[in-house]
Amino acid sequence: MISEKMVDLVKNSSVIRSMFEEGKRLAGIYGAENVYDFSLGNPSVEPPVEIKEALLQVLNEESPSMVHGYMNNSGYEDVREKVSENLNKRFETDFNKDNIIMTVGAAGGLNVILKTLLNPNEEVLTFAPFFGEYRNYVSNFDGKLTVVPPNTVDFQPNLDEFEQLISKKTKAVIINSPNNPTGVVYSEQTILKLAEILNKKQKEFGISIYLISDEPYRELAYDGIDVPYLTKYYRNTIVGYSFSKSLSLPGERIGYLVIPNEVDDYENVIGAANVANRILGYVNAPSLIQRAVAKCLDSSVDLEIYNRNRELIYNSLISYGYQCVKPQGAFYLFVKALEEDEKAFAQAAKKHNILIVPGSSFGCPGYCRIAYCVDYSMIERALPGFKKLAQEYGI
Ligand code: PLP
Repeated sequence: MISEKMVDLVKNSSVIRSMFEEGKRLAGIYGAENVYDFSLGNPSVEPPVEIKEALLQVLNEESPSMVHGYMNNSGYEDVREKVSENLNKRFETDFNKDNIIMTVGAAGGLNVILKTLLNPNEEVLTFAPFFGEYRNYVSNFDGKLTVVPPNTVDFQPNLDEFEQLISKKTKAVIINSPNNPTGVVYSEQTILKLAEILNKKQKEFGISIYLISDEPYRELAYDGIDVPYLTKYYRNTIVGYSFSKSLSLPGERIGYLVIPNEVDDYENVIGAANVANRILGYVNAPSLIQRAVAKCLDSSVDLEIYNRNRELIYNSLISYGYQCVKPQGAFYLFVKALEEDEKAFAQAAKKHNILIVPGSSFGCPGYCRIAYCVDYSMIERALPGFKKLAQEYGI
């Protein structure tokens, strides 16, 4: 007998799982090359060659008992030192190794920081549309996720409603830019306003509200757009980073948290996060890949490959009459469904062997997510289906 909490969690995971099953079923009937699966955020661009070289260098040149051994729960000191120096160089910050905890991807980092901060029933706010897993991560620690309704004009956060929703029970706010599922980058103006509201509310309620910046897509930003580094705008900011997308390493499970000295109760927060990393069962981030990424902090995947996909899918969909905001980062596009019920629209797309994810999975019905981290040729093959689909809706 599984726990009651798990019964609900299993039920709620069924959307993505059934999509995966459906993809396999369609591939069996029509052939894999005739099924256009845009449902998964799995990077299609290869990791940079430096990663393989770094892994080999670590294996060939470093002590095996060090490379494969236990370490501090926060990660290797020299790795954390390099991460902090790299951040300081890029963002003019002032971090050191004691501000960094290496984590099991962004997912591990978010669970660590939520375990560190949350008492039962404390609130975490996030902005729709949002990465659906936040709901599960917050529920892991018996917190309450409150979702700020979307601003579907440009998908910048809806700050007026946000201000109304903050309460004495608000412990943290999670934001994600570049955003999954919209690809929107939150502007500096948005961040300044967000920080102003948080400062005001902290004062009004006499509480600390931590801003958790979930940024696995930081490096995936197009046309040279600036992605503001949030610790510079709001004192109580904690950053959750991941190499899953910037270096195409999602299976390796590697990322880090930045907990700056300035955050309220820093000593306790960093100490507790260290313990949380251990007792959640991660113990520490995987050792070999920690050492390898530390040698590749200035590397990135070939962004031009995603950029070509972005231009092709966006320009084509717009020319067929679809509506969507042009993504500025990540590898997702959030298209307005051609009927009110976006689940029915996703079903209609499936008739053309196109798999896309209904926006209700991201707290934003009426839209669907297209993950364009796929082969360019697959997008080309899928386009006639998108065109016919629009025609079926009389567009
Ligand atoms: N946060 C967002 C917004 C994501 O899209 C993802 C993965 O797709 C994650 C966190 C988890 O990433 P990781 O593989 O680093 O755990």
